[in-house]
Amino acid sequence: MSAIAENGPLVADTTIASSLGPEPWNAPWWKVANGDYPTFFYMILIHALALAGLIFFPMPGWKVVLATFAIAWVGGLGVTVCYHRALAHRAVQLNPVVRHFLIFFAQFCGSGSPDSWTANHRQHHAKVETPEDISSPAIGGFWWSHLRWLWQAGNVPLSRWCPDLDRPQYRFWNRMQIPVLAISLFVWIPFGWAAFFWLGPMRLVASLHAQCFVNSIAHMRPDAKPGEDSSQNIWWLGFLQFLQGENWHANHHARPASARLGWTFWQVDFGWYAIVVLEKLGLASKVRRIS
Ligand SMILES: [Zn+2]
Ligand SMILES: [Zn+2]
Repeated sequence: MSAIAENGPLVADTTIASSLGPEPWNAPWWKVANGDYPTFFYMILIHALALAGLIFFPMPGWKVVLATFAIAWVGGLGVTVCYHRALAHRAVQLNPVVRHFLIFFAQFCGSGSPDSWTANHRQHHAKVETPEDISSPAIGGFWWSHLRWLWQAGNVPLSRWCPDLDRPQYRFWNRMQIPVLAISLFVWIPFGWAAFFWLGPMRLVASLHAQCFVNSIAHMRPDAKPGEDSSQNIWWLGFLQFLQGENWHANHHARPASARLGWTFWQVDFGWYAIVVLEKLGLASKVRRIS
């Protein structure tokens, strides 16, 4: 998940190329790799504005709160159903209209382009528990895995990890990244300052951290030995992610090809329910279930 960085050049290299050296997690947090200042400044900006919003507009009214949750909800579905399950793992095939609708909202919630998200995520699965895993807490610690890798890890080679997304319909979204984020942040100003802070930076910060917890604490199983699978299911994380299923991360690492992340009736997984509904409506096909 690269927030707003342009994708780097396509290279045949198999490893992450960070200008901060082979161990970028040892650099101070404010050092930026590969000139990715847009991502770094975006992070500073939304956190500063979100803090101001929390201080000056803690009670914005139910309409603003409801709209904030609704947009974040659809953005979360965009990430888990489209970016994660459909594009990165090909566990479900989505109708093109649904696919691009969800890509728009994933990007609107700050999750970057479909190809860079997919490349980072496939590398994560392939290299998990090694220094080549772009966001490993075992290698770089909590803050590295949670946030810092976004501007310090450098680019994963798209040609290696997602050649299937090297198509105009996905490249289009690379060009849209900055315009969509600018709209996502500022379009609310005419509705008043409370609406601006909640629907803009506060929503973007909440969506960001909800996702980042999957990279950080969902990979910090306390009893994991070095090199062992560190993924864990965290029930309470579900409430920060609208119960959309990404918190069942040990399930996911055990069966990454499955479109279903919550395996029992009490492992609530609205991402999966959405896929079932889309399948019934004829808008999703080739759904891969756990066996
Ligand atoms: Zn993982
Ligand atoms: Zn995955």
